[in-house]
Amino acid sequence: MLKELNRSELLEIANATPSKKNCPSCSSLACNGWETVPGSFSLDCLKPIGTLRIEGAPECWDEDHPQGTNIWSENAPISIQFHPYNRSDVCECQECGRKYLRYTEYGGYYIDERIRALNPNLIT
Ligand SMILES: [Zn+2]
Repeated sequence: MLKELNRSELLEIANATPSKKNCPSCSSLACNGWETVPGSFSLDCLKPIGTLRIEGAPECWDEDHPQGTNIWSENAPISIQFHPYNRSDVCECQECGRKYLRYTEYGGYYIDERIRALNPNLIT
């Protein structure tokens, strides 16, 4: 079972410095905003290290966009009580230690694996 992370734990994780620039495993990901994980990308290099899904918390599908951003914006705030962060896991690249958020979007006829780089400056 993944550790449930609170905001300060998330900030600490987000502020850790990756060990490499141009990491061969994950530098192909361009995901300052939420992106669908490219089919060519192997998720095996990402290791889950915690989750923002809090057991027993009330469901919340609202998004937080006080500055007029939308879910795809590269500068959308990371507000952990709001969708989709409240359904996200935190993972790290096993090669360089860079941190990412991941969640799975379940549409009517599809499943979409989404990923976003964990930028500490956007955590509200
Ligand atoms: Zn990496």
